[in-house]
Amino acid sequence: MNSGFIVYPGSFDPITYGHIDLIERALRIFPRVHVVVMENPRKTSLFTLDEKYEMIDESLKGLEGVTVEKWEGLLVDYMRQTGARVVLRGLRAFSDFDYEFQMALANKYMCPEIEIVFLMTNVKYHFLSSSLVKEIFQMGGDVSRWVPPPVLRYLEKKLAKK
Ligand code: ADP
Repeated sequence: MNSGFIVYPGSFDPITYGHIDLIERALRIFPRVHVVVMENPRKTSLFTLDEKYEMIDESLKGLEGVTVEKWEGLLVDYMRQTGARVVLRGLRAFSDFDYEFQMALANKYMCPEIEIVFLMTNVKYHFLSSSLVKEIFQMGGDVSRWVPPPVLRYLEKKLAKK
């Protein structure tokens, strides 16, 4: 198994400190983390794939060992094409479990050579999700504790456009 890097896929709409905490902790176990920005057909995205990529790229500048990529399609196709073998996902509440369990088994079924590693949320961020950030921001709340400055700028731009 190639464990030189771990792939962290997600919709990151937008990236939050919850995601970033997971990346920083994964970097203590794996020398490199490949963040892969994807669309989740279950969710309606506020940001485009390019915007999400740019926000992550700007937010993670200076964090050594991290690369960011965009991918349209199935995660298993990305894994096969790049030869990657290990996937990182996060678990917050019980509510994550069903979905993560289903996706992990489906991905493992389609691509048996991959392994999916789960890291438990940091207690500081256990309630934090991209949706919560968008909802609170849209209602005029301060979300600067939960997202890095580049994301704040993109949220302001997006909201001003509406
Ligand atoms: P997706 O649409 O693929 O679920 P998300 O960006 O919502 O993409 O989440 C990507 C991964 O990050 C998921 O495994 C999710 O459980 C995890 N995650 C999101 N927010 C947090 C958080 N606050 N703490 C820990 N894990 C998180």
